[in-house]
Amino acid sequence: MIRALYPGTFDPIHNGHVDIAARAATLFDELVIGIYDSPPKMLLLDTALRVALAKGALAHLANVRVLPYQGLTVAFAREIGASVMVRGLRAISDFEFEFQMALTNKKLAPDIEFVSLMTSLEYAYLSSTILKEIAALRGDISGLAPLAVQTALQAHFDELGHAARHGVPMVSSRD
Ligand code: ADP
Repeated sequence: MIRALYPGTFDPIHNGHVDIAARAATLFDELVIGIYDSPPKMLLLDTALRVALAKGALAHLANVRVLPYQGLTVAFAREIGASVMVRGLRAISDFEFEFQMALTNKKLAPDIEFVSLMTSLEYAYLSSTILKEIAALRGDISGLAPLAVQTALQAHFDELGHAARHGVPMVSSRD
């Protein structure tokens, strides 16, 4: 039985992530999506919402589970009994970072193997950052993320817009 971990911040999950998860789920017996529970200041959406959106987006994949984690990713991989770590690779720009992370993690955990899956061409440009920027500027994000993610982003930016129009400081728990 091979259990793999696909870790990331998923802030929020988008169709590029879903594609990597769906393909990884066919390669391993079980796939755990690890959602990094980092200080909320760095991220747009809190951990509970990022987990809920990922669960919804991946509910159709029977051998996929979504769990939040803190601390070292390799420590979490060991805790859940994952022997493989999966990452997605978009362009050359991703390579250097992913290469460095993979080698560092290999040094920390020689028993864990690292597998990178190439992005599908249709998602090669897509990142959570791009998705959030388009949503913030009221662009069309259909086709880029699952419906629940589109709705959550629209609600988030509606709330910020409402706060700005009514003179309420645009400070949330994430600022
Ligand atoms: P990070 O872990 O750096 O916070 P993310 O949570 O956004 O990054 O993404 C998790 C993983 O999914 C990373 O390996 C990232 O390269 C990969 N990924 C993100 N977007 C895409 C995409 N469009 N196609 C393929 N892989 C992707």
